[in-house]
Amino acid sequence: MADASYNPFRTAQAQLDHAMEVLGLEPSIRQLLREPMREYRYRLPVRMDSGEVQVFDSYRVQYNHARGPTKGGLRWHPDETIDTVRALACWMTWKCAVLDLPLGGGKGGVTCNPTSLSTAEKERLARAYIRAAGHRMSVDRDVPAPDVHTTPQIMAWMLDEYETMMGYHHSGVITGKPIPLGGSAGRNEATSMGGVVIAGEVERELGHQIAGARCAIQGFGNVGGILARLLHERGARVIAISAVDGAIHNEDGIDIPKALTYYNRNMQQIAGFDGGDAISNEELLTCSCEMLFPAALENVITESNAMDIQAKVIIEMANGPTTPAADKILYERGIFVVPDILANAGGVTVSYLEQVQNTYNYRWSVEDINRELQRRMKEAFAAVYAENKRVEGPMRLAAYLLAVERVAEACRLRGWV
Ligand code: GLU
Repeated sequence: MADASYNPFRTAQAQLDHAMEVLGLEPSIRQLLREPMREYRYRLPVRMDSGEVQVFDSYRVQYNHARGPTKGGLRWHPDETIDTVRALACWMTWKCAVLDLPLGGGKGGVTCNPTSLSTAEKERLARAYIRAAGHRMSVDRDVPAPDVHTTPQIMAWMLDEYETMMGYHHSGVITGKPIPLGGSAGRNEATSMGGVVIAGEVERELGHQIAGARCAIQGFGNVGGILARLLHERGARVIAISAVDGAIHNEDGIDIPKALTYYNRNMQQIAGFDGGDAISNEELLTCSCEMLFPAALENVITESNAMDIQAKVIIEMANGPTTPAADKILYERGIFVVPDILANAGGVTVSYLEQVQNTYNYRWSVEDINRELQRRMKEAFAAVYAENKRVEGPMRLAAYLLAVERVAEACRLRGWV
């Protein structure tokens, strides 16, 4: 994402254009789906601990709501722009449709460096965002959730601000909340758990065993860290992990519980961990392994490294990690890529289950949630895999064909096109 010449929204549009071309969609639908239906920009003045006011740029994009209220996370990142948020909101639209959730796609972003903010400053920023954007959110309109650098605690502050503004309780307006405030059991692990379900389906369909597989995981945050633990528990050999400050490699397999303890004690840093050799993030992506899990940011597998990737299977836990040019190279090289809009959909699936529980004012057990998550992820994988057998091309195209057609159908039924 730090590459200024890279525009993720152009990537999202290119992926969509390809699918719309194969589907032969009518021009009016193409016009509608290529751009967000609604987008908002807010300037947020926030008082810092120093007493000075700092003004933050922030956005919310409600990309398409034909299938239901828009749904998607809120990301805090220094490189956030309207185009990163547009791209992520566009991908959420297809992700919700691939999982057949009755939801549209949306995303929010605040341009900030969360690592330099104190807890009190984060709280004031979270509340400022809701004061600006909250009146355009509701259970029936647009529902945010955590994403990169936003946590259940941040969701809690946002919920409190929203309910204070509105004067009533409506916990389903935000998902990924702490459990005492109406959050769902299993939500925190859901994205990673969904990735493991997908790895299980790849094992079943293609015979790539998880047990003993050498896995490389890029990113050790909420998604990558929990994924590493779950894969480790299933007998995979996690040989490479990374965080923003560097990566670690150990051919014998990294002691993941020890690495997680180190990472959490060292303010989300992995450099200096003595359970392997230091390598660069770039070396992690191209190391010799069976399965690669990009679980950080977009634009990491590009035409400059796609030829060097050695993994046989890539499961995209991040949003948008692979560029269209790289996709083509990976496909020609016979690497099986499970696209983001399927692979990392576990998070939004359990967000949806959280909303359903909030609506009923009821709680399901973690076993119930995981069973339902598994069922939905397996069904989505089966549908995409069947489409992939029917239409020649990568799994991403198959996932797009299913999702875009579902959204297009909803637009037609509404008489929008
Ligand atoms: N931020 C997650 C994603 O990119 C989850 C979104 C949600 O739960 O609404 O899928």
